[in-house]
Amino acid sequence: MHADERFEELLSAYGSPLYVHDLARVRRACHDLAAALPEPARLYYSLKANPHPGLVAELARCGAHAEITSRGELAAALEAGCAAGELLYSGPGKTPGELREAVAQGVRAFSVESFGDLERVGAAGAAHGTAVDCLLRVNAAGAPGDAGLRMTGSASQFGFDVDALLSAPERLRVPGARIAGLHFFPLTNARDEAGLIAEIVQSVRTAAALRDELGLSLRLVDLGGGFAAPYAVPGERPRYPALRKAVTGVLDAELPGWRQGAPHIAFESGRHLVGDSGTLLTTVVDVKDSKGTRFAVLDAGVNHLGGLSGLGRLLPMKARPLGPADGEVRRVTLAGPLCTPADLLGRSVELAGLRPGTVLAFPNVGAYGLTASLLGFLGHRAPAEVLVDGGRVVSATRLALHRHPVPAADTRSAVTTARS
Ligand SMILES: *Cc1c(COP(=O)(O)O)cnc(C)c1O
Repeated sequence: MHADERFEELLSAYGSPLYVHDLARVRRACHDLAAALPEPARLYYSLKANPHPGLVAELARCGAHAEITSRGELAAALEAGCAAGELLYSGPGKTPGELREAVAQGVRAFSVESFGDLERVGAAGAAHGTAVDCLLRVNAAGAPGDAGLRMTGSASQFGFDVDALLSAPERLRVPGARIAGLHFFPLTNARDEAGLIAEIVQSVRTAAALRDELGLSLRLVDLGGGFAAPYAVPGERPRYPALRKAVTGVLDAELPGWRQGAPHIAFESGRHLVGDSGTLLTTVVDVKDSKGTRFAVLDAGVNHLGGLSGLGRLLPMKARPLGPADGEVRRVTLAGPLCTPADLLGRSVELAGLRPGTVLAFPNVGAYGLTASLLGFLGHRAPAEVLVDGGRVVSATRLALHRHPVPAADTRSAVTTARS
């Protein structure tokens, strides 16, 4: 069946607006990325891009581990069937309460962003009577070259400055925490392969230098990623044909035990793995002209596809109407249903034949779609999310925000719990 007919059929069944995610594309992306990386390497899927448990489960079946940053992402990973002991918990601002819950649920690996973060993670491990693995996230320089270890990145809430690590190594001895390795994530959405390779090579060199200067025994080095994907515009995932050879070379030189897992090497990705799996279907509700501008008002706006833009900042997005394009091409502004002039999904875009009932498809919105949007703003119902695999519907669900009562904590016994 033609893809557009399939989309029409799904819309009739599940209503508009509608997110459709194709698991076959997720598998292909995971396979392609694994083939571009050095072997052996672990691949983490960053749930931030899309925490839908069906996508997480599919990626787990493809061998990806889950990288999580919150109670909600932990719950999604567990619901997807991931083993708690294989998760990597990262992100700044991890509170004592969420850390205690994560450790109690079996999480044993954390990326830590500062000495304070390390102490809080260690305290959660110690309170549970265990020691958890910590990767030191390093805020290292972006630019390639041989400027070496002393070079640091720009000011950031993410990661340790290299100088801070070197000047206070004793602060890495924290009860309940075992320094297990290093974590780098210097850039994202890198289309330029040469730049990405230079960045990863630099991270490997920094890892080796920190190992030597701090006397670390590295068990896991997470080199991050930055693998790109188109967002809400037509296009293909970029390929990285030279990456495997180049990174393998620097690993052999700098971290010679890596093939035997000493250290294990990891990469992480969100958008590259799920971006091209998703399409948002939205229906034109109204067409009107105002002072020379034609507006098409859609049933989806920045509450459903506001990802990475935020109010008032419009990314270039490019939808196409389903079915044969008839009628004259017009310049039209695509507005969503929210009562704010910032709710735009396209300004002065050229489209043919828009009328009430026309369905528009936004491609490549599998990452940073629904959960990166202003879902709660103005209270519109979330689109259903349908997972398909080839021609088969695997699941259809709708995300909802619920208000529920919160019992007061017993403050005599648990002040910190009450505050976190
Ligand atoms: C956001 C983020 C990712 C995922 O980024 P993508 O560009 O979607 O691949 C991975 N790791 C960290 C630490 C992040 O903050």
